[in-house]
Amino acid sequence: MGSHASRDFPNKSPYPLPFHHLIESLRTLPGIGIKTATRLAFHLLKAPEEEALQLSREISGLREALVLCPQCQNIMDRDSRLSCCTICADPARDPGTVMVVEDIQTLYSIERTGEFRGRYHVLLGRLSPLEGIGPEALRVRELLDRTGTGEIHEMILATSPTVEGESTALYLARLFKPLGVKVSRIAFGIPVGLELEFVDDITLIRSVEARRPM
Ligand code: ZN
Repeated sequence: MGSHASRDFPNKSPYPLPFHHLIESLRTLPGIGIKTATRLAFHLLKAPEEEALQLSREISGLREALVLCPQCQNIMDRDSRLSCCTICADPARDPGTVMVVEDIQTLYSIERTGEFRGRYHVLLGRLSPLEGIGPEALRVRELLDRTGTGEIHEMILATSPTVEGESTALYLARLFKPLGVKVSRIAFGIPVGLELEFVDDITLIRSVEARRPM
């Protein structure tokens, strides 16, 4: 289904080259096949110029406009007057409870449930000996620094229930428990092997509520 360019355009693309290139670029986006890509390209062609320009500016300026929060590694507005992200800066959130996640997308999945009132730490990856990803490639040092200030007393490990996610959780539990941090692992009512970002909100809430000590 739409994954082979040769099959999608049997002979040669019927479109002018710039339009063809736009379709091909849109197709590289996740979940976008040839039909959707073509529909989006026609939409952009018909849309008011300002709308298309706005979209193009937002895409091209995205990386420049964002930096990582120095505390939790979440993304934040480069122009922000805060020295950290809005979650870390929120005085209503418990700084002592930290949810550790593999990626920024999972942080926002949990945030969307509106149930968690602590803070986060994004590892920006997970341990994978097969791919040569060791602890030094993750933001573990930053987590140690945060723990060193004595502020963190509970750590909830919310890495994915995959082999890599589990070994990452085990590694962190072994590292932080001797430092006097209460470490727990979220429970899973979901198929093992599934990436957390694809889990529905209710399952995610239950998983955090039913976390178990490590
Ligand atoms: Zn932050």
